[in-house]
Amino acid sequence: MAEELLSVSSINTHYGQSHVLFDVSLSVDRGGIVALVGRNGAGKTTTLRSIMCLTPVSSGTITMNGEEIQGLQPHAVRKRGISWVPEGRRVFGDLTVEENLRLAAHTGEGDKRAGFEEIYDRFPRLDERRTQKAGTMSGGEQQMLAIARGLLGPETDLLLLDEPSEGLAPQIVEDVKDIIRDLNDDGVTILLVEQNAEMALDLADLAYVLETGEVVHDAPASELLSDRSAMETYLGVK
Ligand code: ATP
Repeated sequence: MAEELLSVSSINTHYGQSHVLFDVSLSVDRGGIVALVGRNGAGKTTTLRSIMCLTPVSSGTITMNGEEIQGLQPHAVRKRGISWVPEGRRVFGDLTVEENLRLAAHTGEGDKRAGFEEIYDRFPRLDERRTQKAGTMSGGEQQMLAIARGLLGPETDLLLLDEPSEGLAPQIVEDVKDIIRDLNDDGVTILLVEQNAEMALDLADLAYVLETGEVVHDAPASELLSDRSAMETYLGVK
């Protein structure tokens, strides 16, 4: 039977007076890929920020590996095995691949446990480009670097990926899908936020649809992908 790795239960999240998430619940099984899809402003990023404890929840519980994590500091959440790759890649274009990784390791828990060689083993393309400036790499390679940076430090059990396909040409999106599949094959569980619903649903086992801060639908990803009426109703995909 599937083992639950992450459980988000009835969370409410505010930015100041603004109530953004309304009783959001979702579950991610160990070894799976779960997609969280929805239109612009639906609350997808806020859900990831809430899980990472970057934006505190006002109520509800978040459980990782059976232990409640809401209210922890983000670095403590990281130590529990959750990594976050934010939207927009945010690599430093003037720095080399190696410098980008070193910077990430230094701002984290020190580089002893950073596992640079593991990262280069996992991503040979980055190994070949250690001395190349990140800004001169393709969007797909920059996304690979952003993901690699997220994996530095403590072991990652669950990777939160925010819009990894953003701004990438369709062929490059296919490359990013391969990176995500490979990571998942290596045992990393993935919670994938995407506006590109078709991309996310093609990868995922299970999907949740967010609409104005509420989960309005959940279904096996392949079922949602083939349900044209639901795709149009929930996601505006014709
Ligand atoms: P997008 O794909 O555009 O990033 P999203 O589904 O990830 O959309 P969120 O970024 O989580 O949505 O935003 C949810 C709502 O919260 C939106 O109405 C947004 O305007 C609001 N919001 C996001 N960040 C803040 C903030 N720092 N302060 C106030 N409101 C915010």
